[in-house]
Amino acid sequence: MTSSAHPPSDALLPIELTLLIPCFNEQCVLAQFHTRLLATLEHLKVTVEVLYINDGSQDATAAIIDGFAQDPRIKTLHLNRNFGKEAAMRVGINEARGRAVIILDCDLQDPPELIPLMVQEWHRGFEIVNMQRRSRRCDSWLKRTAARLYYAAMDQLIDGFDVPREVSDFRLIGPNALADIRAMDDNAGVLKILVSWLGYPTIEVDYDRKPRQAGQTKWSSLSLLNLAADSILAFSTRPLRMYSYISGISFLVGSLWVAGVAASGELTLEHLQVQAILLLCLGTAVVGEYVGRVLTVVSPRPSSLCKRDQP
Ligand code: UDP
Ligand code: MG
Repeated sequence: MTSSAHPPSDALLPIELTLLIPCFNEQCVLAQFHTRLLATLEHLKVTVEVLYINDGSQDATAAIIDGFAQDPRIKTLHLNRNFGKEAAMRVGINEARGRAVIILDCDLQDPPELIPLMVQEWHRGFEIVNMQRRSRRCDSWLKRTAARLYYAAMDQLIDGFDVPREVSDFRLIGPNALADIRAMDDNAGVLKILVSWLGYPTIEVDYDRKPRQAGQTKWSSLSLLNLAADSILAFSTRPLRMYSYISGISFLVGSLWVAGVAASGELTLEHLQVQAILLLCLGTAVVGEYVGRVLTVVSPRPSSLCKRDQP
C-alpha cells in the first residue's frame, strides 16, 4: 500500500469513511473519475480515505493511481494479478480503515456526487445503503434479459431473505456489517448477497446509472451466469432438495409400474434396467443431500447473527 509522505492536519482523526474503488485496466477513465471524486470530497463533512485497488491491470492504471496517492487521503493497493472484482472488494474491505465503506466503480457509472447522500442515510441509522438503478435503459437487451433471469432464479432458490432488485455493488456498508464480513472471511459468497443475508437495517436509494464514460466493460455474457452459479452454490441447497424430490417420486412411481408389470407376468430386462437407473438417481440425490449438509457445516457463515450495539 502506498502511504503518505506528508500527513494532513487531520491525520490523527479516526477515518469515518473509506471509498473502495476496484480498477482493472481503467486508464482511459481514471483521470475524469478522480477529478469528480475530489470535487465531491470538498463538500463531504466526514474524514475520508480513498482506496484504489488495482486488480492486476496491464495498462497504465497502476501508475495513474500511484500518482493520485500523492494526496495523503488516497491509498493504493495492487493485486498480483487479475483476481476479479469480488476478490478486489474483499481485499479492500479487509484493508479499509474507515468505520464505513462505500464501494464504487471507477467508470463513472456510479456517480461520486451521490456519496454525501449515502452518508446521510447511514447517519439516519441505515447500516446498509444500497444504490438501486432506476432503469436499465443504457444496458444491452442481452444484459437486461440476463439480469431479469438472474433475479427470478434468486427469488426461487434463495430462502429467508430478499436479494434486492437492480442493486449492484454501489453501496455503503456500515461498521457492524463490516465487522461481520471480516469475521466470516466468506470467500465463496457473493458480496452483494452476503450483505443482504446479514439482515441489517437497509435502505434502497434510487439513482440513474449512467453509461460508462470511457474504456471498455469487463462484462461478458458469461459473467452473469457465473454470478448466478456462485450465488446459488454459496447461498442455497434448494437445487439439491428439488433433485431429491424429483428422483424420490420418480423411483416410487417407477417401482409401482415395474411391480404392476411383474404382476402381469410381462417383466423384461428393460423394465429392470429402468428401475436400476431410477435407483441410481435416488442414490445420487442421497449423496447430494449429504454434500449439502457438509457445505452448511463448513460454511464460515454462522446459522444466525445477534443484534449488536453500534460501536
Ligand atoms: N473490475 C475489477 N476487476 C475485474 C473487472 C472489473 O476491479 O476483473 C472493476 C472495473 O475496473 C470497474 C468495476 O469493477 O471499476 C465494474 O466493471 P465494469 O464496468 O467492467 O462492469 P459493468 O459495469 O459493465 O458491469
Ligand atoms: Mg461499468
